[in-house]
Amino acid sequence: MDSKLLDKFLKYVKVDTQSSDDSKSFPSTDKQFDLAELLVEELKTQGLKDAEVDKNCYVTATLKSNTVNKDIPAVGFIAHLDTAPNAPGKNVKPQIYQNYKGDLITFPENPDITLSPEDTPYLKKCVGDTIVTADGTTLLGGDDKAGIAIIMTAVEYLINHPEISHGDIKVCFTPDEEIGQGTEHFDIDKFNTDFAYTVDGHMPGKINKETFSADMITIKIKGKDIHPGEAKNVMVNSIRIASDIIAELPKNVAPETTEGYEPYIHPFEINGTVELTKIKILLRSFKLEDLELFKAKIEKSVNCVHKNYPSSEINIEVKHQYKNMFEYLKERPEALDILWKSVKETGITPEWKPVRGGTDGSRLSEKGLPTPNIFAGCENSHSLKEYASLNAMENGVKTLVNIAQNCCKD
Ligand SMILES: [Zn+2]
Repeated sequence: MDSKLLDKFLKYVKVDTQSSDDSKSFPSTDKQFDLAELLVEELKTQGLKDAEVDKNCYVTATLKSNTVNKDIPAVGFIAHLDTAPNAPGKNVKPQIYQNYKGDLITFPENPDITLSPEDTPYLKKCVGDTIVTADGTTLLGGDDKAGIAIIMTAVEYLINHPEISHGDIKVCFTPDEEIGQGTEHFDIDKFNTDFAYTVDGHMPGKINKETFSADMITIKIKGKDIHPGEAKNVMVNSIRIASDIIAELPKNVAPETTEGYEPYIHPFEINGTVELTKIKILLRSFKLEDLELFKAKIEKSVNCVHKNYPSSEINIEVKHQYKNMFEYLKERPEALDILWKSVKETGITPEWKPVRGGTDGSRLSEKGLPTPNIFAGCENSHSLKEYASLNAMENGVKTLVNIAQNCCKD
């Protein structure tokens, strides 16, 4: 299994699929079709006759059920085609370290960076493993080519082992995940599965059923400008009002002071003149109730500050961003139970890890497709120091094969 898995992975990372924040088109870059078309060909060669890429660059295919039992849930496996815009993604030259000794890894084209087991704790567990990095000038793109290689290898494995019973298995490779658009044109009705799993990020055992719930608040403050020489009792400076509001926000509920399950309030953008200042604030928590409390708290602070500047106008706007996917996943506990069991059967200890952000899974779950996330065997994503572990990816393949089997069992 492992040589095929590695070959696929190396082939996919060499295709440049970087998405772009600046683009107005969908997908954001045409080159994502290069990998999409290559995958359609491979899926067809494997015998998945309905494999296709649509005009929005979503690759879909079905591995048909091989059992007469009709009561098996249809399950989806999802990974993303694009790589992050944070670091170069073209001309990726994978460096392969077989039988890794646990020593310092250097990058042939960039003497300024190294990968050491000291500051990358998982590397310590990789002695004897095969490690893949880029050459120091690009990201590797294991996020999420590792997820794609894992899914493609699992599908091939199931085809070559017809003695393993499974229901309908659908695969989908999506564009533009890294710029937050991955589910934009995802056709859930056409995909038609009972639940799905994204295969993206992290090292073995780490699985995700919880993400933040997220709102964004925009506060617009209108002041009054006049020549400063004649401003007494007339000028209302919206910049001062904004700073008074920010000063009221709790300092110990911030991204820079919290971790794990702790929530935060994060003023992340401020623009202003005397006449008009806008503040943007992110609210993040695993509990929906916290978001309500935060909104009430900010409103109270704003009202309090407003009293000192009665002739200003202050307006608060709240935008819902996404919801903790557990709010939906708890309605489909079998999707979580099957995942837990399937990881355990590979011999790894599973661990639910809360995601301090949103994922495609949280957006798909909200749209009606319950979608927890499975590790893909990569770390240091979005950076030149990204690396993949072949052993971790193999465990990803085993997990997917186990899921296919466990969906058939009661
Ligand atoms: Zn990813």
